[in-house]
Amino acid sequence: MCNFCHQHGEGKKWYLEARNYSEDLLSDLKRRRFIENFFAYGPDSLKKSEQQLQLLDRLPALLRGFIRKKVTKRQMPYHFGQVIPIEDVEKILEMTTSVVRLACICRHSLLGSEQRFCYGLTISPQGNGMSSILKEIDASYLIGPQTGGLEYLTKEEALEHMRQCELDGLCHSLWTFITPFIGGLCNCSLPGCMALRTTVLHKTPVMFRGEYLAVVDQEKCIACGECQKICPFEAYLPGKNGDKAAVNIRKCYGCGICRGVCPAEAISLVDRQSVPEVAQLWL
Ligand code: SF4
Ligand code: SF4
Repeated sequence: MCNFCHQHGEGKKWYLEARNYSEDLLSDLKRRRFIENFFAYGPDSLKKSEQQLQLLDRLPALLRGFIRKKVTKRQMPYHFGQVIPIEDVEKILEMTTSVVRLACICRHSLLGSEQRFCYGLTISPQGNGMSSILKEIDASYLIGPQTGGLEYLTKEEALEHMRQCELDGLCHSLWTFITPFIGGLCNCSLPGCMALRTTVLHKTPVMFRGEYLAVVDQEKCIACGECQKICPFEAYLPGKNGDKAAVNIRKCYGCGICRGVCPAEAISLVDRQSVPEVAQLWL
């Protein structure tokens, strides 16, 4: 289990602990202000972060490595993520009391287009938590008439959309707003998603790997290459045409989206803890 599970999971996966989504945590004024600022001023600060990461990539290796570690450490208590597969998305949705879909702040700022891949979640019998904060934020990409505003979805609608995202090559991730409060569930892809850009392209992790790993059943694999094409983490070992698929477990994030496109049902997810070589590899 990752650091957050040990610190905030009460003996289980931290993101399956209802308290981490609760209105109790959300009522903290510092956290509410953090969320408001994140969405209101986020687009400008994301553009700036991307420029800084590009500069970081050009620094000498030693200094670059040092700064990358510092950025990861600085992010962890504030806004940090973890990759999760669709079965855990389903478990989380079962617990939620309110699901709202909104325009993706990353794609808005980096690609200039409105794409509705992000979700605000709340678990509270009393209120609408995240959605009540979001609808008060004065940012046109969130609530403006041209963007369609916030959409309230049923759990079934949200799950159906996220299953489709997965087939389109997007992986699911959860996000804290002052850890351990979880307020967002995103569907990430390159080039528009800042979390993937920072973690994969700029090699500065801002999310944990998932609790799982992909395994290929060599008996079933028909060497079609579909898994390799869809993996956002380039975790399949390059093979010659006709070679069966093999996962580089040190690169696999356990998102599970390769599983969904495999025509031979040859891919499954196993618990990361069951593979000693990567059991503690989270970043
Ligand atoms: S190999 Fe791992 S990281 Fe790549 S798509 Fe499959 S589960 Fe995700
Ligand atoms: S998608 Fe499935 S059948 Fe095709 S190469 Fe990957 S594991 Fe093999």
